[in-house]
Amino acid sequence: MFSGYHHHPILAIYYYPDPDKWDHAQISRDLAEIAGAQIQSIWLFFDSFYDKNALSRLRDLLDEAQRLGLTVTPVLGQFLQLDEYPEVKIVNADGTTSDNPRYWNMGCFRHPTVFERATAHAVGFLRDFGGHSALYRLDGKVVMSFVHEAYYRNSVPEYGGPAMQPSCYCEHCQMAFRDYLIGHNLNPDTEPPRDASDPDLWQHWQNCHAEAIPAFLARLIRTANNVMPVYATHELNDFYPASWQSVYTGNDWWRMGAVLDIGHEDMYPLEFDHRYQCYVYDYAKDVMRSAVGFNKLITGNGQAFDSWQGYKLPTNSMSEQIYSCLAHGALGLVWWGQWPSSDTRYALTRQTQRYNAEYAALVAQLEGWQLAQAEVALLYSWTSMSQALNDEHTYDTLLAYMLLVQCGYPVDLVSEEQVAGGILAARGYKALLAMGCSALPTSVHQAIEHFVEQGGLLVTDHAPKLNDAFQPLYSAWRGIATEGLRLYTLPDRVPVPVQISAGPLHPPREAQIIARFEDDSPAICRIPRGQGAVILAGSYLGWDYSNYPGYYDLAAMFPFHTRRDAALRRWLADTLENAGA
Ligand SMILES: [Zn+2]
Repeated sequence: MFSGYHHHPILAIYYYPDPDKWDHAQISRDLAEIAGAQIQSIWLFFDSFYDKNALSRLRDLLDEAQRLGLTVTPVLGQFLQLDEYPEVKIVNADGTTSDNPRYWNMGCFRHPTVFERATAHAVGFLRDFGGHSALYRLDGKVVMSFVHEAYYRNSVPEYGGPAMQPSCYCEHCQMAFRDYLIGHNLNPDTEPPRDASDPDLWQHWQNCHAEAIPAFLARLIRTANNVMPVYATHELNDFYPASWQSVYTGNDWWRMGAVLDIGHEDMYPLEFDHRYQCYVYDYAKDVMRSAVGFNKLITGNGQAFDSWQGYKLPTNSMSEQIYSCLAHGALGLVWWGQWPSSDTRYALTRQTQRYNAEYAALVAQLEGWQLAQAEVALLYSWTSMSQALNDEHTYDTLLAYMLLVQCGYPVDLVSEEQVAGGILAARGYKALLAMGCSALPTSVHQAIEHFVEQGGLLVTDHAPKLNDAFQPLYSAWRGIATEGLRLYTLPDRVPVPVQISAGPLHPPREAQIIARFEDDSPAICRIPRGQGAVILAGSYLGWDYSNYPGYYDLAAMFPFHTRRDAALRRWLADTLENAGA
């Protein structure tokens, strides 16, 4: 941890002034409100000052912030516009380009123009203002956020658009794939695949795609460090850690987190929905904590705005957000407010005051303390997401995560690469949950088998086999999913309905049958292996537990109950407890 951090934490709000529309008086009023709310810092989108050649206005802003006792973290935001630089557009599988500038679609991160524009702004700021004493520093180094949300987007499914399609097939990405194939001793003349019909090739293509953004960030951060040494962060965006679509957007958090000094993520509890999903807010922090290697500062966003659908933030939300951050290891918080709308310009920012004071006091008190070491890990399977192209694994994992958190378990999310690299032994987990993992590389199978042989408990559930190249765990013990299986019965005779899909099990003779489907076929088994055991379920336990990672439904017209299966939660908690976790 940085020296003195706990008494000088990141407690900030995003600020995105438009120098054409917001005069100095407006900016002064905004900054005074921010300081008055006991926010300590602004995370400043500075691109527009460079685009509009308004550097003296930017200097005035920094001076004014300093006068008010606010520090400033520069944020590289939208550093180019697609209409000005159409040549950078992402090329989709069907040959179309991604033309929608909505959100932060800045084209292909392998296009040289994208790198040039980003570098011009980042280097420009550090050259022009890197010595300004208003800048937030840790151990004497300026903290800078390099790119606010980076992804390959060709649709907006969260607003009802179609699912995203594979990208990017531009000449730069084709060249990168050639290099990738050479690096993996494969034929460099192999064409990039357009679909998943060849599972091996498809996986290589998606893995190569996932390298584009981390490579861009790493190079950009190196270039900035040549101007002056900085600590780098980047806002890893939105709900994508919980969705398979992060494969198409090129957002593997572990690859991205590896290039950062400080992990920062963009989840909010109420953004695109009428239900309040605080468990995804927690989940994103635990993903981030793992993605930076469990040993770096992580920070989260705070929601001080009403949902984009118009639903109001629940009154207790800010309190819940600060405690969620702390409970999941985020010792920094950056609010997003409602700046441009004049009627509510300050309302929610003012409401943060009490929580800012509380958060700052708690961060100070936590100096010298660590999060409890998790004894339970959950596997995040990039390969299952890439091969299945659906959310059966992702949401099964997220809903199982919620179950564990509700039982009070600290949980580590672990990546396939971490598992293959020996993290299960290194961090001493007692149990690993691999939920809906329909496609895993051989190295992950071997590492998990070793973990079980050495005394670990593996809990794994339904996972339809997709292909021979990447198989689910213990596929010989799994039957084909059938529509007929709708219910299984736990040892205490409590029935649990199958919510999505289930297949009967064909476990080895030594297996103990824990639960059966209504046709008497095995639904959950315990199979001893070496010093450990496998709990194998034929249905998706996460999906069967709940239908939503939250608890409020804010819709006034058609509010729905969120389903939970307390008996299933109790059974899984008892199973983990019996394994010593
Ligand atoms: Zn490209």
